[in-house]
Amino acid sequence: MDLTNPTVIRAVMQKHGKQFAKSLGQNFLTDAGVLDAIVEGSGIGAQTDVLEIGPGIGVLTARLCRSARRVVAVELDEKLLPVLDETLAEFRNVEIVQGDILKTDIGALVQEHFGGNMVQVAANLPYYITSPILMRLIEAREWISSITVMVQKEVAERIAAPPGGKDYGVLSVAVQYYGSVELLTEVPPESFLPPPKVSSAVIRIHLLPQPSVRTDETLFFKIVKASFAQRRKTLVNSLSAGMSCYGKDVIRAALEQIGLPETVRAERLSLEEFAKLTNLLGNN
Ligand code: SAM
Repeated sequence: MDLTNPTVIRAVMQKHGKQFAKSLGQNFLTDAGVLDAIVEGSGIGAQTDVLEIGPGIGVLTARLCRSARRVVAVELDEKLLPVLDETLAEFRNVEIVQGDILKTDIGALVQEHFGGNMVQVAANLPYYITSPILMRLIEAREWISSITVMVQKEVAERIAAPPGGKDYGVLSVAVQYYGSVELLTEVPPESFLPPPKVSSAVIRIHLLPQPSVRTDETLFFKIVKASFAQRRKTLVNSLSAGMSCYGKDVIRAALEQIGLPETVRAERLSLEEFAKLTNLLGNN
């Protein structure tokens, strides 16, 4: 069954009385080249265990089953379960778990289904919950070696952004703190059925065994969030407004020690510089 063929997709959906659920971000892939880019770009091979989020009608799942050792896919929409039973009938290395990925204990799932082996995550994500899903995956990094996902192009650019531009912000810092990010390919709306309103991109996040910088994690993220809260203002103004425990003079002195001007904005600071700022302010 060619699940990239729109006629086949419509026929299988109709047979099971299933409509595309916009509210669940159901835009199914119809581009075999993109499926290859996800699987090959992620480095998934015969020894890889894969966790997929949102299998839909199973087009990526089937491609993963052909390359990986084992695939477990978490799907929220129970109306898709009979569809997946049919479309994935030929594979013995797949299991569908019905549930909400945001309510799933990922560590427990990996232990139950993969005997605690590290997994790779691959998915064409439901865009309405991209950030919360990524945060949950990062929280479960003890069990996950890398994450290869389709996201909205604009979100991919924010995640991968280097310091200095308008795309660089809390999301960039949050993801780059725990992993290194690679932009694999851009994907136009025509590669999906129905086509989404936005362009998309596939990114790969290699999760690091240790965070990319050394610092007090809790304080680091409080400082990063407060620094970006009013990103048009200087860091001194934004941070002192968000964390009143730090007076402007203390922040200015810390910036000077790092070699940064007092007029600097948050978007100019690298992760290393945010870590240095955290370490200096933490000692106050
Ligand atoms: N993997 C399929 C593909 O590439 O064609 C479908 C991808 S579609 C963009 C997103 C999928 O995520 C849908 O099947 C949707 O039902 C599912 N989904 C939405 N919210 C979810 C959630 N909270 N937990 C698990 N799956 C979810």
